[in-house]
Amino acid sequence: MTVKQYDGYRSFQYLTPGKHYRSYLLPQSDRYRNTCEIKLSETEERIFDTIQKYYPIVSLRDHGFIVPKNPDDIIPYCRQLHTEFDYEGLARSGIDLVFENFMDGISIISSLSGLKWNDVIMTLGIRFCDIAKQDTVYLAKTFKDLREAKITKRVAILPSIEAASILENEIDRVDVLYGLGIRCMGITYNDANTLGSGLTEKFDGGLTKFGRKVVERMNTLGMVIDISHCGDKTSLDIIEASESPVMITHAGARKVWDSPRMKPDEVLLACAKKGGIIGVCAAPNTTLSSKNPHEHTIESVMEHLEYLKDLVGIDHVGLGPDTFFGDHVALQHAFDDMLSLHESHGNQDYETPSFVEGLENPTEAMSNMIKWMIKKNYKIQMVEKIVGGNALRILRNILL
Ligand SMILES: [Zn+2]
Repeated sequence: MTVKQYDGYRSFQYLTPGKHYRSYLLPQSDRYRNTCEIKLSETEERIFDTIQKYYPIVSLRDHGFIVPKNPDDIIPYCRQLHTEFDYEGLARSGIDLVFENFMDGISIISSLSGLKWNDVIMTLGIRFCDIAKQDTVYLAKTFKDLREAKITKRVAILPSIEAASILENEIDRVDVLYGLGIRCMGITYNDANTLGSGLTEKFDGGLTKFGRKVVERMNTLGMVIDISHCGDKTSLDIIEASESPVMITHAGARKVWDSPRMKPDEVLLACAKKGGIIGVCAAPNTTLSSKNPHEHTIESVMEHLEYLKDLVGIDHVGLGPDTFFGDHVALQHAFDDMLSLHESHGNQDYETPSFVEGLENPTEAMSNMIKWMIKKNYKIQMVEKIVGGNALRILRNILL
């Protein structure tokens, strides 16, 4: 992929580790490891080069976050402010625009439950400070901002919030978040909050009165609504209540893999009908396939893409791999209970992979997904829509 400009900057290099913050042992070059080589012919290589050179590449969910090497360090690392961000890795990814939530769901500075207002604001502030000191990534706020990534060889970040649980019942916090630069927000995470039900709840009461207020305010301000982790009824209510198209930034199809984390056809079709898109997720234990439940590879992930494409049409699919740098499965284990992850992955019998082959980190995920589509003879116009054209069509109308 196109290598974006990178001048060697490391997170917090304006501070002294050990003196100003505690540093943790991080994975080194192994965090960029290539777990699956997709070989292209000369002609295919030319198509790949054209796509990366001219077409906007949008990841609806990925992270610059680096997981510490030692699994025992994960919780203490997330309980302090200075988690490291991989500018070099994002530069290598070839992504032009990434929806980035700065791992706010596991920002547990003052609480062990995550998505707390003070913790998330502190996390955003420290990250924005770090970002202000470098020139590889920049924070995008308007549609025009997004267009500059390709031209200036930088990575545009669309600041996002995983779930609106941090609002509690304060509607004006939506404005505060918008003022701080947030342009996309999930309505619930896996558990219920004051807006509606998450996808692990046994009873889904739908969008609450407060939830409706938030949807309306997000529409007014120009913030993307994300229903990736919402329960089915809550998702349908949100799609109906929203004036603008709604996104499922990172999920998959329940018909391909039957788990609460995947979306039923009814929700997928409603999302598309409203003009929205569904980004295919590649986080471990999510987009598996009942055809081969003991392997989580690029093949099973892309089976979701093919299913979605046939169900909702080429104009309503995108890519939201949800990768980061370091051991994703170890991070899931560390936060399993807090985030109801196991429950969200369902009760089917399958072997937990130690990583998703071909989609282990941002440096390989997006390029492998594009190569996979080229190998399957997707027309270049189709790839263009899936990798970013569809997302930009929606963002043009939502970001004011
Ligand atoms: Zn998520």
